Amino acid sequence: MVSVLLTEEGNVAVVVRVRPQNQQEREGSRPAAVQVIDDSMLVFDPEEPCLSGVFPGFRGHDAPKRKGKDLKFVFDRVFGESATQEEVFQHTTKEILDGVLNGYNCSVFAYGATGAGKTYTMLGSEKSPGIMYLTMVELYKRIEARKEEKSCEVLISYQEVYNEQIHDLLEPKGPLAIREDPEKGVVVQSLSFHQPKSAEQLLEMLASGNRNRTQHPTDANATSSRSHAVFQIYVKQQDRVIGITQDLQVAKMSLIDLAGSERASTTNTKGERLREGANINRSLLALINVINALADAKSRKSHIPYRDSKLTRLLKDSLGGNCRTIMIAAISPSALAYEDTYNTLKYANRAKEI
Ligand code: ADP
Ligand code: MG
Repeated sequence: MVSVLLTEEGNVAVVVRVRPQNQQEREGSRPAAVQVIDDSMLVFDPEEPCLSGVFPGFRGHDAPKRKGKDLKFVFDRVFGESATQEEVFQHTTKEILDGVLNGYNCSVFAYGATGAGKTYTMLGSEKSPGIMYLTMVELYKRIEARKEEKSCEVLISYQEVYNEQIHDLLEPKGPLAIREDPEKGVVVQSLSFHQPKSAEQLLEMLASGNRNRTQHPTDANATSSRSHAVFQIYVKQQDRVIGITQDLQVAKMSLIDLAGSERASTTNTKGERLREGANINRSLLALINVINALADAKSRKSHIPYRDSKLTRLLKDSLGGNCRTIMIAAISPSALAYEDTYNTLKYANRAKEI
């Protein structure tokens, strides 16, 4: 099967993942705000099903149907509540791994409001690890399969962008500086690189890195929702040809658990640059602006504002150009998250145009 994700280089693929409702949401009386139709379509705020149609003779036929927005959205893929971590991985990151092995930088973002399922999708739990882990396992498998032709080295780093500062999550120390190297691309000074010896060790590193994410003394939840966790995998390869010195090829895959988008919810004004408000996460806004500018650049040349934030500077060599990007928009189906879900879907719909 030829995937939409691989048809055009530099494209952004946009998928949506709907998380299951939690107990509190299920017990609420309001119907779900999202209905998944198939693996590429969902309806936001569906019209309430007409009960008299389902049960002929039911006396509800004269009760007025609740008017919903009833908006259909189509994405490269829609994952319903029952989608497993493995399925999400199979249809997203797995499809761009070849790009990395061919020397292209790639990035995968989890976007969405706090509580929508970003961390679950990227990091996951011990029992069902997410994309970060599944990607590494698949990568090792592919490298093993071609070890006769290529020698390969894999290194990882895990960092956080919080309050416009970069911190190493695997070897915590003071904030780190970024610079651009003409040969190596973006370099974060003193960032630690690691080579996990086993899948278990990788899981342990991810878990401990996550424990090092910034926690606010008074409100842990509000703060972790403002930090971006950036997991990067560096793949260095060389052909095994006897007697000839081969070029070293380096590519990087960035897997990013973004800060909560709830404060950036006024993001739908098409084309217009967003201004930073007091409480809005600068890096998240800058990322949205970069992605919008890349969309505009498709039709006409425009300036891509990478320099506006730490996150976009960090990802400058991993967004646009030949880089493949996947945006995973995480949403809750609950009516309690109505506005957040609507904003996320509108934003994801815009990102599709890239
Ligand atoms: P976010 O990182 O976007 O703030 P989380 O990933 O922490 O949100 O998800 C919020 C809650 O929902 C967590 O308790 C998480 O375990 C649960 N959750 C999210 N997505 C799923 C899913 N697909 N299946 C089961 N539980 C999920
Ligand atoms: Mg989270």
